[in-house]
Amino acid sequence: MKRFYPDFNAIDAFTLSLDYHQNELECAHCSKHDQFVSHGIIYKQRSSSFAEKVGKRIFCSNRYGRTGCGRTFQLYTANEIPSFRYGAAHLFIFITALIANQTISEAYIKATGQTEFRNAWRWLSRMMLKLSQYRSFLKVRSDDSFDLPHSTPNSLKHCLPTLNRLFTSNINGCFNFQITQQQAFF
Ligand SMILES: [Zn+2]
Repeated sequence: MKRFYPDFNAIDAFTLSLDYHQNELECAHCSKHDQFVSHGIIYKQRSSSFAEKVGKRIFCSNRYGRTGCGRTFQLYTANEIPSFRYGAAHLFIFITALIANQTISEAYIKATGQTEFRNAWRWLSRMMLKLSQYRSFLKVRSDDSFDLPHSTPNSLKHCLPTLNRLFTSNINGCFNFQITQQQAFF
């Protein structure tokens, strides 16, 4: 089942015609494809006054005569990284700042406006765990040579060549990775 879509309208159109799209659906739990119903919008709070529509839920329904298993699935726009407080746009700023040789703390502050930057290391380690998937998406086997200051932390040295390819050969590596691979960026 497709998990990432180009934009909210694409998700909306899809979920409003689930019966028509039966052959693209299969419940990961009960394998049925014809019991799904649309089950509400997923919002993300961007500020105190603005919540953005970032996805929709569909429900393998076991109600009103339907014989599904009752599990819910989330469909997201490809600019939305599930279980990540920020979006692809923030990550894009973070990574392009790192590529431009800014320090991890500088890049994080630039991306989020937060002065506490301990989370930046968490972002980096989440990307480290996905490195082989990024490389197979890019169809590269090993690192390019990449000029980095001597003081660059090893973890960053290790993943920056790949991130560089991901975010300079593609306009938005995060979006492209999620829409093509149909898996979360991290
Ligand atoms: Zn099911």
